[in-house]
Amino acid sequence: MADALVTAVGPATMQSTPSSPPATRWPRPKGLLLDAMGTLIDLRQSVGSSYAALAQEQGISVDAEAIDAVFGQVLSQAPALAFTGLEAEALLAAERQWWGDRIAETFAALEAPEPSQELRLALFDHFAEAEQWRVFPDVVEQLRGWREAGLKLAVVSNFDRRLHGLLAQLELSHLLDAVVVSSEAGAAKPDPHPFALALNALDLEAAEVWHVGDSPEDLAGARAAGLRCVLIERI
Ligand SMILES: [Mg+2]
Repeated sequence: MADALVTAVGPATMQSTPSSPPATRWPRPKGLLLDAMGTLIDLRQSVGSSYAALAQEQGISVDAEAIDAVFGQVLSQAPALAFTGLEAEALLAAERQWWGDRIAETFAALEAPEPSQELRLALFDHFAEAEQWRVFPDVVEQLRGWREAGLKLAVVSNFDRRLHGLLAQLELSHLLDAVVVSSEAGAAKPDPHPFALALNALDLEAAEVWHVGDSPEDLAGARAAGLRCVLIERI
């Protein structure tokens, strides 16, 4: 990818050999699994900026940079964004509750007033808006090229069902054969289950597919599922 550093990692080794591109060592894949946030798409402004702006509308002052400083830790300590046995409205309620809890934990970490249910729901809806997101500039060309080369493509993301609408509005859905989100899958990366669901959707075996992502969860999950993994670092 044009603006990404690439590290290739096979299923059985952590070795990275940048001087030897993966295509010369690995058999050509028949499909690719792709992480979403940080790989295909990103927020246009920081989480803290959005939280602070919507909180201010309700008379709560919180510092955007302070939110950004604690948000990663809040997410890292959260239970998996994954639910089993829930559909439709019950799943939506669980997704809203999960994010509401993260918002509350973030505010608590800053000793800010407890966010109202109204603010929690407003923030949930805010991040469902396509205009809050951008597609990295190399993505559409890459996806088109891979499709023209005959590769099947699926997204595997630790996200909720808002991602389906976002990918459609960001005009990426038509370039993808499947989208697996953790909230529906019942497990989140690094659990191998979401990868298995994506392989099933593409009707491909693990040995035929590479995963492309940007986080330790991508690498660990891909390895657990028996896939080769290409980690990118956006610069
Ligand atoms: Mg990511």
